[in-house]
Amino acid sequence: MIERYESKRMRLYTDIPADKADPLPALADQLFEALQTEFGELLPDWMGVDFQVTAYLIKDEQKFVRHNLIKDAIAGFRHGQHLGYQFWMYEQEFDYYRRHLLLHEFTHCFMLSAHESMGGRPPLWYLEGMAEIFGTHHLDEKGRLTFGIMPARPDEVVGLGRIEMVQHAIARGDFHSLSDVLALNGKDFTVSRSDPYAWSWALCHFLRTHPRYNERFRQLNAHLADGQFASRFKQLYAKDYDRLAWEWEWFAADLRHGSDVVRNQIDFDAPPAGKPFEVAAAASWRSSGVSLKEGQTVQIRATGRVTLNKTTKPWISEPQGITIEYEKGRPIGQLTAWILPDGGTRVAHPDRIETFAIGADGQFKAARAGLLFLGVNDHPNDRANNSGSYEVTLSPD
Ligand SMILES: [Zn+2]
Repeated sequence: MIERYESKRMRLYTDIPADKADPLPALADQLFEALQTEFGELLPDWMGVDFQVTAYLIKDEQKFVRHNLIKDAIAGFRHGQHLGYQFWMYEQEFDYYRRHLLLHEFTHCFMLSAHESMGGRPPLWYLEGMAEIFGTHHLDEKGRLTFGIMPARPDEVVGLGRIEMVQHAIARGDFHSLSDVLALNGKDFTVSRSDPYAWSWALCHFLRTHPRYNERFRQLNAHLADGQFASRFKQLYAKDYDRLAWEWEWFAADLRHGSDVVRNQIDFDAPPAGKPFEVAAAASWRSSGVSLKEGQTVQIRATGRVTLNKTTKPWISEPQGITIEYEKGRPIGQLTAWILPDGGTRVAHPDRIETFAIGADGQFKAARAGLLFLGVNDHPNDRANNSGSYEVTLSPD
């Protein structure tokens, strides 16, 4: 039997069991409020009626076909499909992912239909990425939703797997630079029903939460229908596009459950030249301000102690690191370095983000020309409990 369930913002037709179906329309009402906060309020009594989406959640497709509830225009869709103020989706194995897909499709209806297109839509990475942002949710015991989360654990988002998709793509050599994600097109989203969504979500999450880029990202919300999105994006990020591209590189390479965009932002400001400077354990890479030539030798001295964790007692580390845990094959707490390649130096992704160990005292030879960055090695999802910093003195030859 196909039953009808209804809330203010959603009318749902489905043949799944009532206990699974009944809570769903109320979730759409919460999402509607969040979408209005993000994209601006719709006019009350819009077009003479309240905004309400009709959703078809399908278990036995034949029942829906018999009742003429699947339009020809959307025949052959795979997971979910929206059209105007309606969407269709197939029943999912996992409760989390059923809600996720429902919220994803509802977001499309709100972003596209509620803002009639006059001059053209935003690019797909944004449309699908934002649908994924509002699909990725936490549901508490009282039935309240939080949207746009960074999943802390796989079991929090059963059936989603976006983080794993990015990790697997990178492992097989399919890294997506910033310009790669911005260029994702309709064909990409048809060829793979998973990876392009994962990259688009990751970029939207990064831009939406990074303190240096999030306000500009929010300004783009005003360009859902005027055809200006892409040119506005270019304009807004023109002045620091290179830095944005580098930070994306690190965010994507380090992506894992609980990734912390705020803590992992790169500090591009150079410390005063020729003086010792601090490298903090709670932060990510910081610029040393020192530009190196390929093969140049640098003497380095690092002192101090940092705290990395607290179990029964604090985990105290010195610049050589502590061999309790490892990140990128090196002890956490170790002073590590990265050379941001000079502009125009084109290197493949694994080389672009290659790092090397420094430790307490010693010297190294620059493997390539570029700006030297330093950091305290730690998991990218575990910096919040760090404190302290090393004091570093550099003497380039
Ligand atoms: Zn979609």
